Formats: sequence, structure tokens, C-alpha cells
Amino acid sequence: MQSYSLIAPAKINLYLEILGARPDGYHELAMILQSVGLADTIDLRLNGTDKFRLHCDHPQVPLGETNLASRAAKLMAEQFRDVFANYGGADITIHKRIPVAAGLAGGSANAAAVLVGLDLMWELGLTQSELQELGARLGSDVPFCIAGGTALATGRGEELDPLPPLSHLWAVLAKYRSLEVSTAWAYRTFREQFGSTYVSDPESLEDRRQRVHSGGMVGAVVRRDKAKIGQLLHNDLERSVLPAHPQVSQLRQALQLPGVLGVMMSGSGPTVFALTESEAQALQVREQVKAAISDPDLDLWVTEVSSTGIQLASPHPHPPEKP
Ligand code: ATP
Repeated sequence: MQSYSLIAPAKINLYLEILGARPDGYHELAMILQSVGLADTIDLRLNGTDKFRLHCDHPQVPLGETNLASRAAKLMAEQFRDVFANYGGADITIHKRIPVAAGLAGGSANAAAVLVGLDLMWELGLTQSELQELGARLGSDVPFCIAGGTALATGRGEELDPLPPLSHLWAVLAKYRSLEVSTAWAYRTFREQFGSTYVSDPESLEDRRQRVHSGGMVGAVVRRDKAKIGQLLHNDLERSVLPAHPQVSQLRQALQLPGVLGVMMSGSGPTVFALTESEAQALQVREQVKAAISDPDLDLWVTEVSSTGIQLASPHPHPPEKP
């Protein structure tokens, strides 16, 4: 087919624990990742040239080679040179709805969509684990974004153990539009402040990984015990990000309303989310927060957890353009 349109969902972290340092300089993590309905749409269309051209009208999204969607396309072209030479380049259009630098893996989701989309367009027939192996070279969250749903992620975040999918759980996401937090800064600051508590020898790391595997949050997710999930939400990065951004702490406080199961920052922030058991409760929380903090810079979304990763938006090709 000449063109594909893909849905690329954001993720939230129900759990994020920094276990220690890795020899490669990254952090060893244990996370529980959850896809949500808030998503970007990525359109891919063969363009008859030998180049990929990126389009996105969001001012915070870079259009050069640093864009993760462009990097995904480049990686595919390098991996499958003959196929690329046969099909040629493509126009990649990102319709951005996921806030940028927000802790919601927007860039990773875009890269995941390009990998899945080019696999389809080029009729490669790659397996999900082959796509995830390519995705891990682009970023630690990309493998999860391909599969989506609910998963325990270890290593840098790229080693995934799927968990039973959650449903009928809503998240109110809240973020100040003008506030961005760099993921690299959040981890660097955490290391400066708490690096002395890291474990690094393989046995201790394995021990701490096992504690998360058999711990309360995984159990709560497996039992679909939403009250417990709300109570056990956890994110180590709050310890470095919240003190630097008091307005995020205040926003977090403002979300602690009746009917809310729990509140937490997602990833490296600054998005915070509140979980509820019904859409009506989530909408009520959104209205109450809007009324309490009447700041035009504050964005709020109500979104349901989702059990899917990258999905086709339209299985049929666009009609050919008229000459
Ligand atoms: P994560 O949760 O994976 O750390 P994030 O949600 O915090 O990611 P992103 O929205 O992925 O952050 O953006 C982080 C930075 O990546 C942005 O500041 C932006 O310059 C750059 N970037 C590169 N490609 C993209 C893309 N396709 N969409 C958004 N940002 C991108």
C-alpha cells in the first residue's frame, strides 16, 4: 500500500523504581508501564523520492535528524537497504496530541509507529520482538510503545514482561503547557542526590528486580485491584523533580480529590495523573482542578487506560490523488 495511518498511544508509569547504576552509564530500572488513550497519529506516504520528509506543525517538535520518528526511518533504511531502494522514501506526518517532554513517551511512540508502519509498507513481515529489538536501539521506551498495554519493564526499560491488561480505569493527566522536564536532567539530578544508595553488583540488582516482580504493585495489577494500584503508585523521580518544580507538587496536591484512587508523576514528569474508576469521576476531577487552579497555562486531559500499542488508524489506502 502507498500510505498508512497509525495511532501511537502515550504511556504513564504506574511504578518507577531506580535500582542502581549500569556499566553502560544508564540506570537499572523496574517500571510498570501503562498505555493510555491519548495518542498521536502518524501518517506515512510513499513520496517517490529517495528521502524521508518529516512534517509536524507542533512548535516543540524538532524537524531535523534528532526527531525520533526520523531516526526510526533512518534505522529501517539502513537495516533494509534493498527494500528501501525499491520503495523509495516517504512523507512522515506527525499529528501531535501527546504533550512534548512530558514524561508520556510521545517521541518514543512516534518512533514505534514509524517502525511498525514501514514494516507494513515495505511488506517485511517482522515479528513484534524483531521490531522491539530495533526499537531498543532508538530509546528504552520504544519497545513498550510498540506492544502497549500493561507491562513490567526492567533493564533500561526495554526488557518487557507483559501483565494482564487493565481496563475501566481512567486517568486525569495534568501539565503546565510551558513547563518541560528533560529526561536526562531528571536522571542526572537523581544520581547526584541519591547515587550513594545505588546497588551495582549483579546479585543485589537481581535481588531488587525480584522484589519488584513479586511485589505489591505487580500483585495488584494481576488481581486488577484498582484501589491497591492507586495506593501503591510510585515514582522515584518525584524525589528529584518535585523539589525543583514546586508548582508540580501543588498540582499533584490539587488532584488528591474524593474518588481519586491515587496520584503520581509520570516518568520524568512534569505530567501528573490521578486515577479514577469511572469516566464520570475523572471528568469531575478535571472540572474541580480547573476551578481550583484557574491558570490558562494548565492543560488537563481525561483518558482511559488502553490495552493496545501501535494500531492502524485506517486499514484502507487513501484514494489516489487526482492529477
Ligand atoms: P520519555 O517519557 O520517553 O522520557 P517524554 O515524554 O518525556 O519522553 P518526548 O515528548 O518524547 O518526552 O520529548 C523529549 C524530547 O525529544 C523533546 O524535547 C523533543 O525535543 C525531542 N523529540 C524528538 N522527537 C520527538 C517527537 N517525535 N515527538 C516529540 N518530541 C521529540
